Amino acid sequence: MSHNYDFDLIAIGGGSGGIATANRAGSYGARALVIESDEVLGGTCVNRGCVPKKVMWYGGAMAHSLRDAVGYGFDVTVNGFDWSALVEKREQYISNINNAYANYLGKNNVEILSGRAKLVDAHTVEVKGKKYSAERIVLAPGGYARVPEIPGSELGVTSDGFFEFKTQPSRVLVLGAGYIAVELAGMLNAMGTKVTLGIRHGSFLREFDLMLQERLTEEMLSDGVEIKTHFTAASLERKGDLITAVGEDGERLEDYDAVIFAVGRSPSTSDLGLEAAGVEVDKRGYIPVDKYQQTNVPSIFAIGDVTGQAELTPVAIAAGRRLADRIYDNQEGRHLDYSLIPTAVFSHPPMATVGLTEAQAREQYGDAVKVYQSNFTAMYNSFTPHKTKTGMKLIVTGTEEKVIGIHMIGLASDEMLQGFAVAMRMGATKRDFDDTIAIHPTSSEELVTLR
Ligand SMILES: Cc1cc2nc3c(=O)[nH]c(=O)nc-3n(C[C@H](O)[C@H](O)[C@H](O)COP(=O)(O)OP(=O)(O)OC[C@H]3O[C@@H](n4cnc5c(N)ncnc54)[C@H](O)[C@@H]3O)c2cc1C
Repeated sequence: MSHNYDFDLIAIGGGSGGIATANRAGSYGARALVIESDEVLGGTCVNRGCVPKKVMWYGGAMAHSLRDAVGYGFDVTVNGFDWSALVEKREQYISNINNAYANYLGKNNVEILSGRAKLVDAHTVEVKGKKYSAERIVLAPGGYARVPEIPGSELGVTSDGFFEFKTQPSRVLVLGAGYIAVELAGMLNAMGTKVTLGIRHGSFLREFDLMLQERLTEEMLSDGVEIKTHFTAASLERKGDLITAVGEDGERLEDYDAVIFAVGRSPSTSDLGLEAAGVEVDKRGYIPVDKYQQTNVPSIFAIGDVTGQAELTPVAIAAGRRLADRIYDNQEGRHLDYSLIPTAVFSHPPMATVGLTEAQAREQYGDAVKVYQSNFTAMYNSFTPHKTKTGMKLIVTGTEEKVIGIHMIGLASDEMLQGFAVAMRMGATKRDFDDTIAIHPTSSEELVTLR
């Protein structure tokens, strides 16, 4: 290792990717530094993403369980829901994670520096006027939620603002069609807020399999979410304490306590000194990397959301760890394979997906594609007054019926998919699924008994 530099590795950004890279590098004995501009460590996922979101999702699931309880003979009277109490506990939980991160970095002898970092050249970073050099620099600054440039946009908030709600809003308009929009709309609705979901086109989650889009639309509608398709906000207006969104076609969606923009995220690359170091960005501002996460500047790497590929925490972590494995543990060739990334959407009910959608599979494999699917009422829902359907779809190709896509929606599908994703990664065929004995009675057994 080189000793001409202050550090072997500097990670810019103390989120999922930066922390994972520095920890792994430090565990191999590298002298690593993490620089974070927020007051706390953890980045988007821990502070204003996955973690607080899943807590609120559980809150929504709890509300649904209370609603369902009567089906199992319980006479439940719900006397109230204390949003602020839940938020307070959530923030305490997050602060424990923030501290755990600092401890873990300390154990791996990683130094932590608070402040905004800027590249000065290919080996130097400046923070608060002081320069730090490293043999290698990892850029992991993540991204931020976009706000559309429309009149009155300051009246709306993003997902960051949602996590700052101290009291429960009674009416909310969520604008957007990605997984964050769908999740926020679903959890607010489950917890008792009146929700309108305004989407630009005819459907949400348009990159997901059609079955998932259709099933979730039905579920959300039957749960009471109002879905306004073909609505693009042209402006927001204040009316007393409430907000009105005016669509491009003049349609007015009125009287909301809050409007949440969930219209996409952009990489945090401005003011990072990329030009000074000669790091290229693409048209949308993302930093292109090769399969080893290397940018066009050999000493500078980029991981996580800033690279614009599969913007998920486990992806940022895996990319960072593999980079450290390769460089500091001589694991030659080790890199992240971005194919077959399983993912869940924490909608109500949740959904999970891995591999190709049916449309993608047909485009790629044509008539060799075969689809097995099932739509059923899970045993749990046979008793509940509110009937939620479970949908499963297995996409296979060729005479060997190799599994190339799995899509599911329904109770516990977020927990079901992980193991099936392992099987798929190993090249499982429909026959392998059929030869696996079912676990009975469950919903997941459907996937090994599809006909
Ligand atoms: C509402 C929401 C829900 C989500 N839910 C999920 C989920 O359920 N599952 C999932 O896998 N993913 C989820 N994600 C995505 C996940 O949060 C990101 O993919 C992940 O955080 C990316 O990690 P990262 O290291 O690239 O960036 P981040 O975690 O964003 O970390 C980047 C850090 O860099 C810091 N930084 C930026 N610029 C500088 C600078 N110049 N100097 C110093 N520090 C800097 C930032 O303050 C930040 O802390 C969600 C995201 C959002 C917004």
